[in-house]
Amino acid sequence: MSSNKYRILIIEDELNIRSFVKTILETNGYQVLTSGTGKQGEWMVTSHCPDLIILDLGLPDMDGVELIKKIRKFSGVPIIVLSARTDENDKVSALDLGANDYVTKPFGTAELLARVRATLRNSHHSTGNGLYGKFVVKDMEIDYDRRIVLVKHQEIKLTQTEYNIVTLLSEHAGRVLTYAFIIHAIWGTADSGSIKKLQVNMANIRKKLGSKPGDNQYISNELGVGYRMYGNE
Ligand code: CA
Repeated sequence: MSSNKYRILIIEDELNIRSFVKTILETNGYQVLTSGTGKQGEWMVTSHCPDLIILDLGLPDMDGVELIKKIRKFSGVPIIVLSARTDENDKVSALDLGANDYVTKPFGTAELLARVRATLRNSHHSTGNGLYGKFVVKDMEIDYDRRIVLVKHQEIKLTQTEYNIVTLLSEHAGRVLTYAFIIHAIWGTADSGSIKKLQVNMANIRKKLGSKPGDNQYISNELGVGYRMYGNE
C-alpha cells in the first residue's frame, strides 16, 4: 500500500519547521524521511533514494548549496530549497547548481504542496527539445507547431528572441528559471549587458501579452532571481 507513495527527504535542522513540513506531507499522502544535518542527509540520499529532497540552505554542519553540488555529482533527484528571505544570492546559486525550485520562509501549506506537486510532475516528463502540440495557461496559448503565441485567440507578434524566451519558460512551467539559465539558453554566452537585455525582452513580452505593471497573468517576475511561467495547477 505504501510502496507506491512518493518518498520525500527533508533536510532541515530547525525542529519546528522539520515537523511542520513532515506533518503537511504525511497528511497529503507522502512518505517522509528526515535529517537534521547535511552529512546524514547526504547519506540518506544514497541509502534511501528519495523521489524528492526538501533542503534547508542553512545547516549546522554544511552549507546547503555545497550539499546540492555534492548530490548533483551522483543524482538528478529533484531538490526544493528552503531559504530565508535574505538569502537572494544563495537562492540563485542553489538554482544554478541544479536545485529545481525554492520556497521562501515563512511559507504556507498550500504553497509548499503546490511546489512539491509541480516538481514531482516536471521530473517525470523531462521534455527534451522536441516541443510539439500546444501549451495553454489561462487564456494564453503557445502553438509550438506553428511557432506562434495567442492570447484570447489573437496572435501576438513576438520577435524570434521573445518567442524563444516564452517557449523556454513554458517548457519549465511552474519552475523559476534564473537569469543565468535563460541567458545561457537563449544567447549561449553572457556578458555584462545580458541581464539588462533579458529584462528589456521580458518587459516587451509582458506588455505584448497584455500584462499591466504588477499584474502578471502568465509570467511572474521573481525579483533578483529570475522568471516563472505559471503552470496548470
Ligand atoms: Ca537552518
